[in-house]
Amino acid sequence: MKSPIDSKFAGRRNERMILSMLRQHQRLSQSQLCRLAGIGSSTASTIVARLREKQLVLETPGTSTDRGPKPTLIELNPDCRYLFAVEINPSYVFVGLFDFVGQMQDNVQVSLGADHSVECVLELLQRQIQGLAQKHRIAGQKMLGVGVTLSGSVSSKGLVSLSSPLGWHNIPLRNALESRLEMPAFVYSNRVRLLTEFDLNPDLKHKHVLYLNVADGVGSTVSMNGTMMYGAGGRYGEIGHIVVDPNGPTCGCGNRGCVEALISGQALVRKIQHDQLAGIAVGFDAAVHEGAARSAEQILSVWTQLVESGHAYALALRDFVADHLGRIAAAAINCYDPDVIILAGYVLRHFPAYYAAAIQAPMATQVYDSTLRSIGILPAAAGANALILGVSIAAFQDAAEHL
Ligand SMILES: [Zn+2]
Repeated sequence: MKSPIDSKFAGRRNERMILSMLRQHQRLSQSQLCRLAGIGSSTASTIVARLREKQLVLETPGTSTDRGPKPTLIELNPDCRYLFAVEINPSYVFVGLFDFVGQMQDNVQVSLGADHSVECVLELLQRQIQGLAQKHRIAGQKMLGVGVTLSGSVSSKGLVSLSSPLGWHNIPLRNALESRLEMPAFVYSNRVRLLTEFDLNPDLKHKHVLYLNVADGVGSTVSMNGTMMYGAGGRYGEIGHIVVDPNGPTCGCGNRGCVEALISGQALVRKIQHDQLAGIAVGFDAAVHEGAARSAEQILSVWTQLVESGHAYALALRDFVADHLGRIAAAAINCYDPDVIILAGYVLRHFPAYYAAAIQAPMATQVYDSTLRSIGILPAAAGANALILGVSIAAFQDAAEHL
């Protein structure tokens, strides 16, 4: 026999499940909810009534059919709660305001100056969040919380043990956010990007996915049949810190010659600037020299254009990226045995077929049992908003515990 505590726990879990289904399917009749959730109609009625009391769902008449009365459709109430999703990047902070349906209603992007200190970033975040809340007249009780993502190792308690692109070590970011913003806070590594791919292509939840991201950081996310892997300390899949050149440049992690220190967006900008001064990279425009005012992504758009025009140095730089990518992908394939590889991040965005070929080529000599593997290599389906949407999905799931 179930204890009252068990029943209450099951009830809350069912509420979260129904909310998640409504976010995915938008509008469902009660019979559709029962079928999808595998629950009986009286249980569904009780849960929907509770959600309606909390004003989290709306019920609207559906369109009439030839076969009987119009079914009542249940949908999320978009205006009942709001969530802030935040990306902290080395060069800027991006804040998105999401309604309860998961639509981004507004956003703001602010450049970070030279000061990457936690205090400076938190102050900036607080100003932007308060500004968006005032602009949209969102009362405090409607704020569900804030989800923050950054490139680095993040524990389940929101401790950032290391973010090499930001140079942060042992920062209790979740506690710092909650005490400053006075709302629930959730902190994630950039792995949440994969949640946006799941949202766009639900079949991926039934695959073994290796998601390779090359942007401000270099890393991988692994998902096995929909279960994201985090490791003991949130460091699973840190393939960007495989050392490939022990005499290479210093990485933000403190080691030398990590792949991230060679092919991340910022590393490539530094390489171009160095090669320009050495007279090797001829033909890059002045924008590359003015790096401080622009993000690495903006600067590398110059590189992309030069590749398309057949510029020799730009093509050689693409080969440099492809060569390192192929090597770390072979190591990751040996470790994780994926059946799908997704190529993501602004460094890989423009020539996915080229980078896919660069991963296929070394498999014959660097991957165990390569002839019997069947691995699909796909470009990420989500575009520039992948990260902000991913953090909003993760934070909605976690914030639902507080409803
Ligand atoms: Zn490193």
